[in-house]
Amino acid sequence: MSGLVFISLRSGSFGNSYVVSDGETTILIDAGAPKRLVAANTAEMGLPPPRALFITHEHHDHTKSLAPIVRHFAPKIFATPGTIFALGRKLESVGSAVVPIDAGTQIGVGKFAVSSVLISHDAAQPVAFRIDHTGGKSAAILSDMGDFGAGITDFACGAGLVLVEANYDPQLLRNSWYPEYLKRRIASRRGHLSNYQCARLAGKLIDSGTKLVVLGHISENNNTPDLALNTVRAHTDFPSIATADRYNPRIFFL
Ligand SMILES: [Zn+2]
Ligand SMILES: [Zn+2]
Repeated sequence: MSGLVFISLRSGSFGNSYVVSDGETTILIDAGAPKRLVAANTAEMGLPPPRALFITHEHHDHTKSLAPIVRHFAPKIFATPGTIFALGRKLESVGSAVVPIDAGTQIGVGKFAVSSVLISHDAAQPVAFRIDHTGGKSAAILSDMGDFGAGITDFACGAGLVLVEANYDPQLLRNSWYPEYLKRRIASRRGHLSNYQCARLAGKLIDSGTKLVVLGHISENNNTPDLALNTVRAHTDFPSIATADRYNPRIFFL
């Protein structure tokens, strides 16, 4: 394989997991997709099983398959001290050592360097990840954040593929059956990115050299893939925008 492959296995409140591989080393970001989906999709593409698992934050949709994934693949696990503490028993029960990471530092895995930045979300110590390959290709995952500042755009600046959260359409959220506290939580600075916030972030990334923006964590109740795509396209005038799927794997080459 000359470049990298990025697989969005699942993206959304039902589960989140992303694979990045150069054909020699496979990295898994989050453990929200079933183990069988990780195994089938890496095997189908001839990729080695994941050697490292990076966890963005403790929420169930990002960690619900942690135990079966760790037992099956035995990857090295990386998470912030806050996430490790918040996962508590869930991590202890898998009996695997976790390497605490400091946001801002880089972890080497094969020919990859994985870096992280703190994000604004209602979790203990959530982060976004950027994965750089010695061959020059890179990907970043910017999801589960209610707001973003220059630190986030600088962090992902120039990454070839960036998955950006496009969680909700503000009007659909306002009119949804969700209880008020949940609507407020989602739209808060520690909640999720709306299509408009996503468009603003995507625009900055495209200006910095990003070649493909993948819209992720799209709400089933307060958004649609078409609405997210159309909103971001209307604000960025950029053709290379795709969507990740809530249930099915999507494969991207970079
Ligand atoms: Zn989530
Ligand atoms: Zn979350």
